[in-house]
Amino acid sequence: MVKSISCKDAGKDCNWSASTESVEELMSLVTEHVLVKHKEIELNSENIANIKSLIKED
Ligand SMILES: [Zn+2]
Repeated sequence: MVKSISCKDAGKDCNWSASTESVEELMSLVTEHVLVKHKEIELNSENIANIKSLIKED
């Protein structure tokens, strides 16, 4: 199962997306991207839960 996420799904005007084999790996890519491009998003537990709810599995 491939896990994927994209900023567009989060309603962001950003064409970044990522897909990996594990949620842990995906979340580390998301964290890295948010810290660089979306500094306004605080990575608190609520936002992390919201981000995780956007993960798609194929
Ligand atoms: Zn983005």
